[in-house]
Amino acid sequence: MSVTVRFAPSPTGLLHVGNARVALLNRLFADSLGGRFLLRLDNTDAERSREEYISAIKRDLSWLGVGWEHTVRQSDRRHYYHTAMARLQAAGRVYPCYETTEELDEQRLFQRGKKQPRLYDRAALMLSKTDHVRLERKGHRPYWRFRIDPHDVQWEDLVRGSCFCHGIHLCDPVLRRADGSYLYMLPSVVDDIDFTITHVIRGEDHLTNTAIQIQIFHALGATPPHFAHLPLMRDVSGQGLSKRLGSLSLDALRWQGIEPIALASLLVTMGTIRPIRLHSAMGELAAAFDLRHYSHGTPRFDESELWQLNARWLHAVPFAAVKDRLIALGLSKVTEGFWNAVRANLDRLETAGTWWQICTSTIVPNPKIIDGPLCLLAAGLLPSEPWDKTTWSVWISAIKKKTGRTGRSLIRPLRLALTGQDTGPELSVLLPIIGRNRALVRLRQGRCRCTCTTAGSSGVYPVQKGHCGEEGPGSR
Ligand code: GLU
Repeated sequence: MSVTVRFAPSPTGLLHVGNARVALLNRLFADSLGGRFLLRLDNTDAERSREEYISAIKRDLSWLGVGWEHTVRQSDRRHYYHTAMARLQAAGRVYPCYETTEELDEQRLFQRGKKQPRLYDRAALMLSKTDHVRLERKGHRPYWRFRIDPHDVQWEDLVRGSCFCHGIHLCDPVLRRADGSYLYMLPSVVDDIDFTITHVIRGEDHLTNTAIQIQIFHALGATPPHFAHLPLMRDVSGQGLSKRLGSLSLDALRWQGIEPIALASLLVTMGTIRPIRLHSAMGELAAAFDLRHYSHGTPRFDESELWQLNARWLHAVPFAAVKDRLIALGLSKVTEGFWNAVRANLDRLETAGTWWQICTSTIVPNPKIIDGPLCLLAAGLLPSEPWDKTTWSVWISAIKKKTGRTGRSLIRPLRLALTGQDTGPELSVLLPIIGRNRALVRLRQGRCRCTCTTAGSSGVYPVQKGHCGEEGPGSR
């Protein structure tokens, strides 16, 4: 039997990390068994479904690396739902009801007050033929419910193990609204049958739906697929993610600079006892995938782990893999040397742009934190071009010799002057990218602008007052 799974988002909003996990595990499950993946767009709610969300879902899945073999929109399949509905009607498994929303709300309030389960009281089943005719003559259009069988429903869940639900605890679900449109329940079953879905992998918020849908599969003469219900994710403090779903949408994470493989590596590990590991590609994830690794314990989504994986990916990724993206960021002259120097300092790719700017455009280091005398002396000792790999060590040895300074007391002031930053990539690599002219300007920032290289007797320039008479700090 060839495996077919489906991911069935409602296009009423953006995909978030919870949806992404379901989509990813479906894809990996299919890939690990040579199966197929159907993207089903559950857009039966015409009022809330939007075309822009359909585009966003496709864009976000592609970004994550979750592809699909086939797409289907439920809005294109009404005819099949009508046929299934007629079949259920002929089998006496659906019945028309006439209550208004207010009446149903009242019924629910009453049940809640009495601490009774929320079940439809089946009043509509008591209506006589004459009642139906009278109501329809008055202009009432019926909505339709599925009649639940009181027998118990059982299935072997691929994540939760043996599952069991008493039929008498299930409420007859509404399948079709009075305006003729369908709710989620029936179209989902019809599509799962028509597209020969073999495995339904989804969130555990659908457990009750599964019990109901198994009955609908049987009522339509079909064998239900296998089910796997994944526990819903929570944050590290144990809170549900519902309030933070905006900031945890794939769109928001992408804009923040999260790499898809970092997110996929985290999502695939959550809910298993396996250690978090950065994977290199989707193929590698699929090769190691086994649904039996997933438990019904609550997975905790820790954003800091995601950022750590992101940084780990950036620190290891070769230049060739990011070159085009760096160019698209405007770093048209970016070199492999630059990338190798900065990548260990990045938590997101975009920050490479900041380092490129630091190297190649005008920066104004704060004169208050610049060690002017040292920098001016260093400027005077800067080797002439052309520069090569040895330039940095030649230069630093010369400064050490003149000043006696070593280690941090030497490198930190140079770094501050050359980059305006306290920490950062290897200066030996940045210096050739900054280039001699820019380095000279930066080392002399706020100080004497002449190119005189005469040092005072202490080995440090007496530059506080503009020693060469050109321009000192006070004249700026
Ligand atoms: N549209 C449903 C949802 O987004 C699909 C549930 C299912 O997988 O059947 O929750």
